[in-house]
Amino acid sequence: MGLPLKSYEMRRGGDHADLAFTDPLTGLGNGRRFNDKIERLIAERADDPAPFTVGIIDLDGFKPINDLFGRKAGDDILIQVAMRLRASMDAQCTVARIGADEFAFLYPLVFSEEAALEKAHTLIEILSAPYDVGERMARLSASVGCSLFSSGDDSASVLMNKSETALYHAKRAGRRRVVVYSGEIEAATQQATRVEQALRRAIAAGEVQAHFQPIVDLTSRRTMGFETLARWTDPDLGIVSPAVFIPIAEERGIIGALSQLVLRKATEAARSWPEDLFLSFNLSPSQLVDQNTGLHILSILDKSGFDPRRLEIEITETGLMTDPASAEKIMNELRLCGIKISLDDFGTGQSSLGRLRDVRFDKIKIDRAFVSSILEDRPSEHIIKAILAMCQGLGMDVVAEGIETEAQAQRLTQFGCRGGQGFRFGRPVDAEATLSYLRETARVDRRMAAAR
Ligand code: C2E
Ligand code: CA
Ligand code: CA
Repeated sequence: MGLPLKSYEMRRGGDHADLAFTDPLTGLGNGRRFNDKIERLIAERADDPAPFTVGIIDLDGFKPINDLFGRKAGDDILIQVAMRLRASMDAQCTVARIGADEFAFLYPLVFSEEAALEKAHTLIEILSAPYDVGERMARLSASVGCSLFSSGDDSASVLMNKSETALYHAKRAGRRRVVVYSGEIEAATQQATRVEQALRRAIAAGEVQAHFQPIVDLTSRRTMGFETLARWTDPDLGIVSPAVFIPIAEERGIIGALSQLVLRKATEAARSWPEDLFLSFNLSPSQLVDQNTGLHILSILDKSGFDPRRLEIEITETGLMTDPASAEKIMNELRLCGIKISLDDFGTGQSSLGRLRDVRFDKIKIDRAFVSSILEDRPSEHIIKAILAMCQGLGMDVVAEGIETEAQAQRLTQFGCRGGQGFRFGRPVDAEATLSYLRETARVDRRMAAAR
C-alpha cells in the first residue's frame, strides 16, 4: 500500500502526496510518513545493522487542558509542541505527529540506552515549559517510550509496538517518565499475555469469584456493609492477586467482562443479607471512560433484583482524571438510580481538593497508608483529622481503610471517624463464609442487647 504513494510523492513531490503524509494541523509528517522513514532506515542498515532510536511522546494531561481552555487553545498548544520538537532536532532526525496528542521521533545516530534516555529527558524538559494560551498560560508534561533498533527488528511496526509498550510502562509509573524497551519489559509483557489468556478463559467459565470484606460502624462495631473484592485461582498460575490481574484486565480491555461477572455474583450473594446492609463495588478508571458502564451495572441489578439504593460504587481519583466529563456523566447516571458513589484510596492519588468541590461524593475512603501510621506519625494524624473535618463540612460519610489493630480503631473513633474496614474486623471471604460471619455477628449483637 505504501509503495504507489511513495513513488507518487517522489515523482510529483506535489500537494496530493504531501497531504497524505502530512498532519494538517502542525505541518509535521504523519504516522505514515514516519513509518516510511523507519522502513527506509531499516533498509539502509540491512548490511550494517547499527542500532538507532525510535520513540513515542505522549502529552500528560492534554485532554483536561483541551476541555478547560477549549479546542482552539488545544490546537494552539499542539502547534507549539510541534514547533518546539522540530526546533530541537537536527537535520538527520525526524519528528511526526502520530495521534491526537502523540508525537514520534527518530534518532538515526542514537544507539545506546543511556543516550536515548538523555535525549528523551531533554524533550520532556522542552515540552514542560509553559505554553501561551491567549492571555493565559498552560503547563503540560510528557511521557516517552523508546525502543532501539536491533538486528531482530525487521519492521517499523515492531519498533513502534515496542515503543508503545515502553510508553505504557512509562505512563503507568507516573508523569514525566521515560522507559526504554528492554528484555525485562519483554518478559513482563509475555507474562501479562499468559495471565490475560488464562483470565479470558476464567471469565468465560465464570471462575472469577466475589469475596466480601466487612465495613463496620466504629462506635457500635455493627456491620454496615461489605466491599466486593475479586478473587481468582488459575489451575496453572495458582492464586493470582487482584493487584496483578486487575491492571492486566484493564490494559487488555477485558475489565468490563470481568467486572460484570463479579458484580453479578456479588449481587446474587448479597440478596441473602439483611436488607440494611450495603454492597460496595470497585470500578476501574477505564470503566469510567466507557459510556456503556452505567447500562451494564443497571441491567445486572435489574436481573438479580438487587435494590440500587443498596449499591455503592468506589472510584479513585485516577478514574476521574482520565476523562472527567465522561466519568461525571456515568456517575450522574448511576446516582439517578439511587446508587451511591465513594472516593476510594483518598489521599494517595493526584488529590485535588478542587475536584471535591466540582464532583459530589457520598463517601470518602481514607487510604490505608494514613491509617497504618496513625499511631506513630503526627503528620498522618493531622491529615486524618483534616479529612474528617472536611467530610463533616461537606456532609460526606467516611470510612478508614486497612485498620489492623484495636489501637488504630480506637484512635480513629476518638477522632470521630464513623466507618472502618480492615483485617481487625474481618478479611475478605467468600459468599458462604460471609453468611456465617453475618450469623455470628447477629448472635453477638443479640447477646450484647440482652446483657444491656
Ligand atoms: P482496594 O479497593 O483499595 O481494596 C482494599 C484492599 O486492601 C484489598 O486488597 C484488601 O484485601 C486489602 N485490605 C483490606 N483490609 C486490609 C488490612 O487491614 N491490611 C492490609 N494490609 N490490607 C487490607 P485486594 O483484595 O488485594 O485488592 C487490591 C485492589 O485490587 C483493590 O484495592 C482494588 O483496587 C482492586 N480490585 C479488587 N477487586 C476488584 C474488582 O472487582 N474490580 C476492580 N476494578 N478492582 C478491584
Ligand atoms: Ca476499594
Ligand atoms: Ca481502597
